[in-house]
Amino acid sequence: MLKLYNSLYKKISEFKPLGDTVKMYSCGPTVYSYHHIGNMRAYIFMDIIRRVLKYNGYKIEGVLNITDVGHMTSDADEGEDKMQVASKRENKTPWEIAKYYEDFFFTQTKKLNIDIPEHVVRATETIDEIINFVKVLVEKGYGYETSKGIYFSIEKFTEYGALSGVSLEDKLAGARIEVDKEKKHPADFALWVKAPKEHIMQWQSPWGMGYPGWHIECSAMGKKFLGDAIDIHTGGIDHLTVHHENEIAQSNALEGKQVVKRWMHVDFLQVDGGKMSKSLGNIFTVDDLEKRGYNPLAFRYFCLNAHYSKKQNFTFDSLSSAQTSMERLYELTFSHKNQTGLNNLKEYEEQFLEAINYDLNIPLALSVLWNMLKETNKSNEVYKLALKFDTVLGLDLSKYQPKVHEIIDEVRLLAEKRWQAKKEKDFKTADEMRENISKLGYEILDGKENYQIVKK
Ligand code: AMP
Ligand code: ZN
Repeated sequence: MLKLYNSLYKKISEFKPLGDTVKMYSCGPTVYSYHHIGNMRAYIFMDIIRRVLKYNGYKIEGVLNITDVGHMTSDADEGEDKMQVASKRENKTPWEIAKYYEDFFFTQTKKLNIDIPEHVVRATETIDEIINFVKVLVEKGYGYETSKGIYFSIEKFTEYGALSGVSLEDKLAGARIEVDKEKKHPADFALWVKAPKEHIMQWQSPWGMGYPGWHIECSAMGKKFLGDAIDIHTGGIDHLTVHHENEIAQSNALEGKQVVKRWMHVDFLQVDGGKMSKSLGNIFTVDDLEKRGYNPLAFRYFCLNAHYSKKQNFTFDSLSSAQTSMERLYELTFSHKNQTGLNNLKEYEEQFLEAINYDLNIPLALSVLWNMLKETNKSNEVYKLALKFDTVLGLDLSKYQPKVHEIIDEVRLLAEKRWQAKKEKDFKTADEMRENISKLGYEILDGKENYQIVKK
């Protein structure tokens, strides 16, 4: 039985999909700059949920959005559109910026074996649906117009704050002094922004030219592809208090029911025990790690060693040990290939399933794999089961080609044949074997009772 945490109820519960296919929405990247390893932790988390669902036999219909307009520099709708900022910074159109960073994003996810959802959806391709969504919210009395745009009235939505536990009073107390006087509550947020002339991305709407707010994009894209009942919604922990609270308000207000059944959040990746920030110069991309000689999958392996609900601290030392361990894991897995030993593997298979199915306990699942590889007799059955486990872990265990080891195995085989031939006084075969061994770069030193293989 698969059990998963739900941030909404703050407990682990049995996962029961609403229909035949699991509907899953994942907040995707804003494509205005290079995506770093912290962002990648969030997508590895999404990927692990998908892989665990598949391991359990579920079909999935997933959406990953691409935010290519409307995400302001502050999550509370203040500041400028991040796309606009990047456009000025790089002297390119926002469309060029979006294309460039979206392509970059997918090069990174590919290197990390991240399983991409069935639908990748851009906000700029969902404008009609967004406008309709806002229209209905206004008709239902949840949205209201000001000189700046259309705002969502959080006081109208009585369950506002259920996810984060932050009350409207708390929001009021935390509000800045210079709040927009036209807003009914300081934490009301923009559904649609009336665009100033200099905002490059803008569309015709019932409220004049403008562009969508960030939060409505996710609600509208989710509705378009997954409908009004979504099994799982994922995102980073930073999105819980504002972005996801706002998504819940919009979607539930529109449908008149609870749309998302389960919210799941991944905690932050820190670097050297602190926040990643430009000023500290500690923001790294997967490409940066590669340039320093690391296998991108070593970063994936590193992530698999911490539970998603805990903060994880990145250092280059820990990445190096992850890489060493992963290489050892490759070798150990390979050492079972084509071997014929006998084992009973039922227990390992059960333990692995139990680990992944208890709220994605991947660190424990990894240790089950390690134990199995170490404790059993060398056997192809173990190899095959390791590859099955790897459908969840995504470490490419099957692709490993240990060139040196393969040679050594072959040399051993030839040396043994040679020794037998010699004992049977078949010197022709023995000489042939010695020749072949020599071609592979090894030499045989004969003793009275045995022989030694040495590298030339
Ligand atoms: P953004 O493109 O800024 O919207 O972020 C994309 C995703 O990465 C979001 O789900 C964020 O919550 C997540 N994220 C950002 N920084 C980190 C971090 N340091 N660790 C883990 N997740 C992060
Ligand atoms: Zn979102």
